[in-house]
Amino acid sequence: MVTGGAGFLGSHVCDRLIAEGKQVYCVDNLMSGRRANIAHLRSSPGFTLIEADVTDSLPDIEVDEIWSLACPASPPCYQRDPVHTLMTSVMGMKRCLDLARKTGARVFQASTSEVYGDPEVHPQVESYRGYVSSVGPRACYDEGKRAAETLCFDYQRSYGVDIRVARIFNTYGPRMSPHDGRVVSNFIVHALLGEPLEIYGNGAQTRSFCFVDDLVDGFFRLMRSSGNLAGPVNLGNPGEFTMQELAQLVLEMTGSNSPVISCPLPVDDPRQRCPDIGLATALLDWKPKVSLREGLRATIESFQNELWLEPRAVEH
Ligand code: NAD
Ligand code: UDP
Repeated sequence: MVTGGAGFLGSHVCDRLIAEGKQVYCVDNLMSGRRANIAHLRSSPGFTLIEADVTDSLPDIEVDEIWSLACPASPPCYQRDPVHTLMTSVMGMKRCLDLARKTGARVFQASTSEVYGDPEVHPQVESYRGYVSSVGPRACYDEGKRAAETLCFDYQRSYGVDIRVARIFNTYGPRMSPHDGRVVSNFIVHALLGEPLEIYGNGAQTRSFCFVDDLVDGFFRLMRSSGNLAGPVNLGNPGEFTMQELAQLVLEMTGSNSPVISCPLPVDDPRQRCPDIGLATALLDWKPKVSLREGLRATIESFQNELWLEPRAVEH
């Protein structure tokens, strides 16, 4: 079972499970996911889409793996209905863990670098407990994910549920929605359409961007590892870039003449973000392989196809 399986990351997880010959139940309410992300899987006999909201129910199905990815991930999207976002993380997690308790399934939780908030420790190691506002506009996401981690470890201690918790850092790639609102998709879409690239604040804030194929490889290494590897384990690319650097790279690679303009910085926007992936490397022999330039090339091409645009200067 993959909750959030019609989303950006979830659809890549479904692809890999179907390629392995598994029976896949994709549970999604399609609020930020898209039918187009899974259209190619609909003809696979092993693939079933179940339209459901994880805050309401989860289908009572005999499963051996539960991949918990349901939750909008982009700030504008998760802040649109913050109460629902918080309940998606908390109730969605509880339902996954209850089903796992019943079936004996292993549970993968897509947690996030947002559990570190606006970090005072850099790069972020798993032992860092974070600097998170419990009352700001990002709290519905950050605190929901923190509570979901808590549920995972309480179900493990109390009921012996087998868990794998990944803390995912900013990830990008084909199948992100062009309307998603995250920085990589915004910059690429605006550059391709010749519209201004909006930098929030002075653009000196940093993020570390991981290409989706690398991340999903890390997911499967963690989920399929033997031994007591509950996590949490950071998964992300340690290459760190300012938003100004990202904007210039996207302009160069798209050959766009879009202007870059400055917009207000959102409340509680983290100033820096970079994973320490020492644990993932030691335990899972995992390291990202795709550079930002290579990953952007593939992402720009996919957006060009989606936006029905003529290919431009993505060969750089
Ligand atoms: P996404 O928005 O593309 O996918 C989320 C999916 O969950 C969508 O298909 C959406 O329709 C579905 N969903 C949301 N609420 C639901 C609900 N209540 N019931 C059923 N389905 C629901 O986002 P994504 O980037 O694919 O992220 C997937 C997961 O990974 C999320 O849990 C997110 O928090 C986590 N994550 C992602 C990143 C990243 O950079 N992409 C970083 C950290 C964590
Ligand atoms: N950002 C930006 N322009 C945009 C979208 C985002 O400058 O069009 C900034 C945002 O303020 C943040 C960074 O880019 O500092 C990453 O934003 P995103 O929403 O992708 O991820 P998150 O803030 O959740 O890490």
